[in-house]
Amino acid sequence: MDCCTKKNQYYTEEEAAEALIRSHIRFNKPALNYYFCGECTHYHLTSRQEKHPLLNQPEVIERIKKEQQSQDWSNRLRRK
Ligand SMILES: [Zn+2]
Repeated sequence: MDCCTKKNQYYTEEEAAEALIRSHIRFNKPALNYYFCGECTHYHLTSRQEKHPLLNQPEVIERIKKEQQSQDWSNRLRRK
């Protein structure tokens, strides 16, 4: 089902949390939280809410750092 926000939809909270973490790995201005949309009954990411506590967890911060580093590496390799 589509909804008026036209944002990516996530079926479960786990999926939304995963997407939230991935947005921090990939983007300079990542989403800060996710919310449940009553219109399409799925989750969306948002940058207009307070930072999700998940993003303050040491293991999540560590994972973001590591994956950003490995992303840097593959970018460098691709440029050659
Ligand atoms: Zn929606």
